[in-house]
Amino acid sequence: MIKRQKILITGRVQGVGFRPAVYRIAEALNLSGFIYNDTKGVTIELQGQEENLTEFLPRLQADDKPPLAEIKSCQTVDIPVIKAEEKFVIKTSDAEGTALSQVTADVATCKDCLSELADRKDFRYGYPFINCTNCGPRYSIVKTIPYDRPNTTMSVFKMCDKCASQYTDVNDRRFHAQPVACSTCGPKIWLTNSKGKTTTAETNKAIAETAKLLQDGKIVAIKGIGGFHLAVDALNDQAVQRLRQRKRRDHKPFAMMIDSVENIRKYVLVSKSAEKLLKSPQAPIVLLPAKKDSAIAPSVAGGVDTLGFMLCYAPLHYLLFEQGIGVLVMTSGNISDEPLICKNDKALERLGQVADAFLIHDREIYRQVDDSVFHFINNQPVPLRRARGYVPTPIFMKKSCQQDIFAAGADLKNTFCFAKQNQLICSEHIGDLEDAEVYHHYIDSIEHLRQLFEVEPKIVAFDLHPGYLSTQYAQSMPGVNPVRNKTPEPSPLRLSGFSNGVKIVQVQHHWAHIASVLVEHGLEGPVIGIACDGTGYGTDGAIWGCECMIASLEKFERFGHLAYYPLAGADKASKEAIRPLLGLLAKSYGKDFELNKFMWLLERTKPETNKNSKFNILNSKFILEQIKKRVNVVDTSSLGRVFDAVAAMLGLGTYNHFDAQLPMALEAIAEEDIEEHYDFELIRKDNEPLQLDLGKMIKELIADIQKGQASGLISAKFHNTLCIALLAMAKQASKSTKLSTVALSGGVFCNRYLTNRLIKLLRKNEFRVLFNKEIPANDGGISVGQAAIAARIMNCE
Ligand SMILES: [Zn+2]
Ligand SMILES: [Zn+2]
Repeated sequence: MIKRQKILITGRVQGVGFRPAVYRIAEALNLSGFIYNDTKGVTIELQGQEENLTEFLPRLQADDKPPLAEIKSCQTVDIPVIKAEEKFVIKTSDAEGTALSQVTADVATCKDCLSELADRKDFRYGYPFINCTNCGPRYSIVKTIPYDRPNTTMSVFKMCDKCASQYTDVNDRRFHAQPVACSTCGPKIWLTNSKGKTTTAETNKAIAETAKLLQDGKIVAIKGIGGFHLAVDALNDQAVQRLRQRKRRDHKPFAMMIDSVENIRKYVLVSKSAEKLLKSPQAPIVLLPAKKDSAIAPSVAGGVDTLGFMLCYAPLHYLLFEQGIGVLVMTSGNISDEPLICKNDKALERLGQVADAFLIHDREIYRQVDDSVFHFINNQPVPLRRARGYVPTPIFMKKSCQQDIFAAGADLKNTFCFAKQNQLICSEHIGDLEDAEVYHHYIDSIEHLRQLFEVEPKIVAFDLHPGYLSTQYAQSMPGVNPVRNKTPEPSPLRLSGFSNGVKIVQVQHHWAHIASVLVEHGLEGPVIGIACDGTGYGTDGAIWGCECMIASLEKFERFGHLAYYPLAGADKASKEAIRPLLGLLAKSYGKDFELNKFMWLLERTKPETNKNSKFNILNSKFILEQIKKRVNVVDTSSLGRVFDAVAAMLGLGTYNHFDAQLPMALEAIAEEDIEEHYDFELIRKDNEPLQLDLGKMIKELIADIQKGQASGLISAKFHNTLCIALLAMAKQASKSTKLSTVALSGGVFCNRYLTNRLIKLLRKNEFRVLFNKEIPANDGGISVGQAAIAARIMNCE
């Protein structure tokens, strides 16, 4: 019997070769009808013999599904049969024109391409740019939509007949694969010296020569998918140290690349889920527990207990490792904290002092995309940096926006976000805006992505902090009236600036953190939100950083927070641990605090020789004076700074050379299997939020140091105290609201020891616990939270 069905499929079904796959199955099963993309996914109508129809979905869901596709939901209804329909066709539709359905993330080289790469009989044997519909660059090469070859950086390469015949054959793996190329018609590589003079132009020789340079301890800048890497032998400590000096990166751990999981296992513990993540099409850097006494050079990653590894993800990487290379440091090609470099001329100009040679190619990278970084929280993969492989994959909202939204994000670890229809499109990791080059890159990126995704923001969301560069930029956008009243208002939300119909929404930092968790989980709240981090501007003008809030996408109420302590020195306070340490001592001991009695403790905190670190006793007296007279002092509930202070007391350092260096060092030494903790107080004053006072903890902790207790034990007890204190706060919040879902976010929850323990503890106490999984818990997730709140408040259906 002939039947007709309409099938609606949602999930990752656009831009992944889904329609050709459906076409092929329909042809094979003798079914007529059509398929088109819509705003939610794809719509298919199928007509044919009933037994063939019933075979369709199982085949689509099983082996015939394109490797990158993910089916989230599938609805089937029977509809009336249409006469005189013979063929199955791929239809274009309105949604076809939207970039949302077309531009997809860059994908690591697939298995099929790898076997062709190694197959002497294949015409792409050894070709460093082999790719297909299931793999290769996408986002990094697209200039504008529609996503067709002329609109990518591949436009300068004219396809040869062989490539063209695959590109146009619906039954071929390379059907409409825009970057398709071969050694006859496509991009080429060559090797230059540090001055940019070509030394080897022939592909195989250039690769062999590069491998030799690396084996000799040389630094080579290698152009990849999203930008340049600086590569060096990770087992050669001298070479790695040289890279650190030249790159002006003193301390931050370097990521490494290897060609197989088996080889990664030599240096770190790789769980099943970690192996899956390493081998995924996104191929991120994964932070894994380091094995003791591994051969990795000590200067690759000091002061942490993890090492970051990724697998080769471009054909060029595989060809390089085939030359007998063991393990490479592969760090972003830039100086210090500047943006990743992706253009050839800029690389030669800026990295000529760093790299001894350049392995370069002529496929232009249009958008620079850093490697993504993941770690595991509660045995689940969680991003720390979301970029290559993940951007621009949207996060779906339950409801659609009536008007487009731009969210400016935070100033550190910046990303920005657009909301259009039912999608949140978060940019790749941009960086710290205080660097002038990063700030320019931020502005250029906003404009490029706005055009690419055809967004016309009528709503602009940004942080409450008047000094944020992102805030200032957002207020300078066309149609936005700057906020003139810079004094904070009691309201968490400030709406103003109506001109040309552009509305603005200012969103409190920690609320945005919690909102980012809610929107990821498809929830609106309210929930008990616990947001802990270093810095976020509060509605009272204080610097918040350990917040318990009753939060939904619509509003929040501050239920509790870490009791304020004084922090002297504004910008310096996030780097120099002595500042929060003295603030906490002054707060904990109150009037009784005398610097003389704590000289032994301050002397114990080893001053660093680095010129950035001004820590000494004289300086301490001066800071204390500042605190007493409240000169350049803010009140803060920052939890990140408490980690800094404790790390300093334990002699782990006094200066954050990169974000969270001291907290990470403190986490790294925490002993496992310790249940002890310190005391703390929850203080309730009339009509004020609950206050978590850590004064008792500070005193007990100092007593432990005096007793000569092991630092690993003290660190564990410190972490445990925070877990129990946050649990107690959540319990109080639950008691007064009857809510039982807790959402965790903020940079402090990048601490695995703390977060794993807290999640366990909350669950044991019958809480449902939510945390970020698709976007980072650190400030890289702020823009998504801002956009979600703006979407909910301003313009949802
Ligand atoms: Zn492929
Ligand atoms: Zn070709």
